[in-house]
Amino acid sequence: MMNSTRIFTLRKFSRLSLSRNHHVAIVGTGPSGFYTAKYLVEQNPDVKVDFFEKLPFPFGLVRYGVAPDHPEVKSACNTFEEVVQKTDRIRYFGNITISDDITDNQLSLEKLSSVYDAVVLAYGANSDNALRIPGENLQGVLSSRDFVNWYNGHPEFTNLHGTQFDLSKIKHVVVVGQGNVALDCARILAKSVEELQTTDISQHAIEALKNSSVETITIIGRRGHVQAAFTIKELRELTKIPNVSVNILKSELQAGWTKASQTEAENNRPKKRILELIDSISNSYKEKLDREISIRFLLGPKEIVPTLTDNKKIGSIVVTKNELTGEPHKQNSIATSEEITLPCDLLLKSIGYKCTPISKTLPFNIRANIIPSLHGRVVDDKDVTIPKLYVAGWLKRGPTGIIGSNIGDAKETSQSVLEDLSKLPIQSHEDPIEILKKDEKTQSIIQQSVTWEEVLKINQKEIENGQKLSPPKLREKFINVNDMLEIAKRSQ
Ligand code: NAP
Repeated sequence: MMNSTRIFTLRKFSRLSLSRNHHVAIVGTGPSGFYTAKYLVEQNPDVKVDFFEKLPFPFGLVRYGVAPDHPEVKSACNTFEEVVQKTDRIRYFGNITISDDITDNQLSLEKLSSVYDAVVLAYGANSDNALRIPGENLQGVLSSRDFVNWYNGHPEFTNLHGTQFDLSKIKHVVVVGQGNVALDCARILAKSVEELQTTDISQHAIEALKNSSVETITIIGRRGHVQAAFTIKELRELTKIPNVSVNILKSELQAGWTKASQTEAENNRPKKRILELIDSISNSYKEKLDREISIRFLLGPKEIVPTLTDNKKIGSIVVTKNELTGEPHKQNSIATSEEITLPCDLLLKSIGYKCTPISKTLPFNIRANIIPSLHGRVVDDKDVTIPKLYVAGWLKRGPTGIIGSNIGDAKETSQSVLEDLSKLPIQSHEDPIEILKKDEKTQSIIQQSVTWEEVLKINQKEIENGQKLSPPKLREKFINVNDMLEIAKRSQ
């Protein structure tokens, strides 16, 4: 896949001998956290890992980001479960937020670093990029992250139900951005409820989709088709949705076929294959069936305009027609004087996720929105290593890549952790959780946390709740933290 090809220079994965049990905390339980834990415990029998997760339930992006109609990708959860089940050297502490604000279930990063030998930050991207155009705060303008978390039942995004996500009055959707997240959103909006209702999509999303009036979904890219970030499998999937027509304008392909674009496509087999598919879609214009997906290129968002009757609500988006300029692989879009207005009742900004620091004490690269690091070791602005602190996943390399991209990344970070731990002096070491339990301020946080056994109880209940529905679903996720905690702490 296009975005998964970043290659990490891996040093040889040597087994380093550690003189005692070393305790590593991993903040976040998405793919990068789990792969890091896997390589830490696999590569060294003296390492113990404790996970810290904000929500009671683990798996981050796999549970709340991957589209419900991609169960083969979601099955990564099984691999992660195995990582924990296979060893007693990994523990799980859910319902604990690592943050500077120390309230009920929040633990400071400083505290964590003081009791662990190493802390790996693997909490991913918790925000999104902004368009920075007028009208962005109108009702009906949402980020794809909001939408994805909503249909996947993330507890912090379910209250959007009934407000922005009432689909009964929405006819025209515009998705800005042409990555795979944009295509996920378009596909979920385009598919029939029958195709989705047996997946683990949340029931509130099914109800909203049942009432959907969506007729058109327009996915716009500011650059040309050669620069589109989506991959062939995801594009092909759109063309296979029953009763949905997918259209691409030939004129926009011609405009994007600059000399530089031709060079970009040369000697690039995956690119050539996707261009063939794009071309074949553009060659067979289809009349609108139940729904139409239009993939439009070289259109730059300029202004989001309210409806005539309600100046707080989105009615359309004005886009400029763009041209490409620049060297191959560095082509930029520039706006021409030509503008078009697209009717729009719901706008999904799918222009990339964004990472933010969880502590004021963390070094942070505000241009790339990542924690600066060298081989996974967190460094300050002078590239000086911050002791005990490591980073993995999107927080380390930016929000691109598929789940498998975390493998090389996690190997690199875990190797750095093991190398550094091997240099620590020999000393007896108390279990960090026991230290936290002795401290009056942190004792209750640990006591209220969710253990792995309790995760399994929540998991079982979700599967049972899914089975009770008609038709039965893979699972019905709890969308409320208190409901998860109630099941977790139930005596049997
Ligand atoms: P992405 O692949 O980085 O795509 C972001 C899109 O937003 C690009 O088309 C980009 O265009 C556009 N964009 C950025 N800023 C913009 C602006 N100001 N105005 C207009 N357009 C703008 O991001 P993503 O879709 O969020 O995906 C994140 C990662 O997850 C990707 O690596 C993706 O492949 C992966 N993912 C994979 C799957 C899957 O395998 N099925 C599913 C979901 C996500 P420019 O190129 O012009 O900047």
